[in-house]
Amino acid sequence: MASAEALRRVALPGGFVDDAGRVHDEVEIAILTGAGEEAILSAPADMCAAALITTLLAHGVRRIGTLRRVTNASVRDLLVQDREFLLIRLRELTLGPDMWVRVQCPRAECAQSMEIKLRLDTLPVTKRPVMARYAAFDDAIEFRLPTGDDQEAIAAAGHDGADASRFMLERCLRHRDTRRAVDVGALDAATIGAIELQMQEAAPDVTPEMDAVCPDCRHAFVAEVDLPFLILTQLRAATRRLEEEVHVLAWNYHWAESDILAMSRPKRARYVRLIEEQLDRFSTV
Ligand SMILES: [Zn+2]
Repeated sequence: MASAEALRRVALPGGFVDDAGRVHDEVEIAILTGAGEEAILSAPADMCAAALITTLLAHGVRRIGTLRRVTNASVRDLLVQDREFLLIRLRELTLGPDMWVRVQCPRAECAQSMEIKLRLDTLPVTKRPVMARYAAFDDAIEFRLPTGDDQEAIAAAGHDGADASRFMLERCLRHRDTRRAVDVGALDAATIGAIELQMQEAAPDVTPEMDAVCPDCRHAFVAEVDLPFLILTQLRAATRRLEEEVHVLAWNYHWAESDILAMSRPKRARYVRLIEEQLDRFSTV
């Protein structure tokens, strides 16, 4: 039941390198259907953000370049920033481009809370197309950029802070000649810092910086928001009506649950509204 209006082609800010070394950067995404919403709703409450993003993207991404079979494994292998970019596009397609974000005035004596409107379709994106899976750091070491798979592995291992950074480096670095893992513990702090900087400069940038002015004390500041986290929270909240809507449609039209779940959220909402309007008419005559 996916209609053309609900599909969109987007260009990844980084790109996906397959096992044969081909770079894919055009992705087709579809508006989230009931099946995708159900997958978020039924996800365990303690599921890490990276795994939730994988679940969502496996439903929303229909094609990565010439790869038409999209699985959890394929969206897990996308770069962290490409995944965030796709999550933003999926949120925009499913709930619209306007998003209200709550931030706090950074002046401790004020700490006023305020809401800022983000336009998801005009957020700046710094593209940095990848050429190959690995890039040279120096003559001996090469690195690849972190993926969703790395993030999920970090969460599963329970690492955070410095442990997480080191764990990530151990996964992303290798020797150029032997292709074996690098003993990160044997590298000095300056080398690690230089590698991390180079990795950061090679990655696309999709993190929004929002200019805000406190309505209370007029202090101007740049607000940092964890957009993926906020989007996941909003999508979770927005899907809570799913079961109720499926029940209303199945009861009135006798459609199969699987057909209802294949609909996009706006389409489902239009049918529910029609039923509600009809019930209103009957109840007022
Ligand atoms: Zn303030």
